[in-house]
Amino acid sequence: MRALTFEPGSEGTLDVREVPDPRRGQGELLVEGLTVGICGTDRELIGAGYGWPPPGEERMVIGHESLGRVLEAPDGSAFSPGELVAGVVRRPDPVPCGACARGEFDMCRNGGYTERGIKELDGFASERWTVEAGYAVKVERSLESVGALVEPASVVAKAWEQIERIGARSWFEPRTLLVTGAGPIGLLAALLGRQRGLEVHVLDRSGPGLKSSLVEGIGATYHSGSSLAEFAEAKPDLIIECTGAGPLVIDAMTTTAAAGIVCLCGLASGGRSHRVDAGVINRDIVLENDVVFGTVNGNLRHYRDAAAALAKADLAWLERLITRRVPLTRALEAFEPAGHDNVKTVIDLTA
Ligand SMILES: [Zn+2]
Repeated sequence: MRALTFEPGSEGTLDVREVPDPRRGQGELLVEGLTVGICGTDRELIGAGYGWPPPGEERMVIGHESLGRVLEAPDGSAFSPGELVAGVVRRPDPVPCGACARGEFDMCRNGGYTERGIKELDGFASERWTVEAGYAVKVERSLESVGALVEPASVVAKAWEQIERIGARSWFEPRTLLVTGAGPIGLLAALLGRQRGLEVHVLDRSGPGLKSSLVEGIGATYHSGSSLAEFAEAKPDLIIECTGAGPLVIDAMTTTAAAGIVCLCGLASGGRSHRVDAGVINRDIVLENDVVFGTVNGNLRHYRDAAAALAKADLAWLERLITRRVPLTRALEAFEPAGHDNVKTVIDLTA
């Protein structure tokens, strides 16, 4: 079968090649790969910035945003041939730490976890793959065109769960949400905010175009810009920061209403310094009972929440998030830089 593989640590090694068919182990599903989504992590991986091959191997199958169709399932499992599934990315560390031992491997304390397509486990960008039944999540058949969004949506579902758990420390009825960055994570965070009945604002550098149209399409308000100055008066109750841009991260900390929550989902590249008044930030957070927290990854519960959130959303809107579909035969094109109006690129593993 064909798979999209690369050599972690070596730039320019990504290619489509023949690899042995996977063999279904005990308790595993055999799955026909349908699509994989491509994100910034994949671009870092092929740029040799990141990634570890399976032990004893030099190459690894890439791809962690998966959607496939079950070909074979173990007797007595909850899965049947023909059903759509997404595979969970992370596996608990073998020790395991206290979090991993409780199924909270997204919160692993010792970094000993492994990840499909990223860290020591083959990814999902192949014509067939296997997954343990306990790390597969059912996806409604109606979501076949957009099911690769389950993984990015799981990151967002976890962010929302964490926000709600933090909010539960006291009276919590947020009304307004600001999302910074209108990439796939930001747009999905805005969608889940609208599903919770919030007034949602999305800030992005892009001018009017697909992103503003997508934001307006869920009844949220689009703001084109690169500063939070316009939110200094009517401060939002919640901010989900998805850009990792230093000045936005810093400004977010002082731009929430009292008891505000800032959720950091974006990743900064580092290497740039910004002059900040630490005293102002300190006073704002303390005197307003604010919380600033970071979040990454998701566990099984978050994947299920994500699949449910996508099933509730407007399918035509989700389809507009996927702006490029590249056949596996031309998979390298999926990694070429795309313009501002590109949101999500997926590789069609059946073409
Ligand atoms: Zn762990």
